Amino acid sequence: MGPLLSIIMVIGYTEREDGVWETIEEPKPGYIVTMAFILCRECKSAISSVGGPRYNSVCVKCYEKIKSPVRGPDSV
Ligand SMILES: [Zn+2]
Repeated sequence: MGPLLSIIMVIGYTEREDGVWETIEEPKPGYIVTMAFILCRECKSAISSVGGPRYNSVCVKCYEKIKSPVRGPDSV
């Protein structure tokens, strides 16, 4: 983990129609955002209270579940 990674706060991911996953980052002060929730399509929890609506979005937790391979005995 380098210092650059800690600057951007990733709060979720959106799957595009072409299958590419885009990160959803925490809106920075001064950014213009829409006043609509971004909801996780998997667990239906709110990823963000602003910046939505976005479809095919998942929270970080569910993204890791989707992207991680089936856990073997050596994974912790
Ligand atoms: Zn979720």
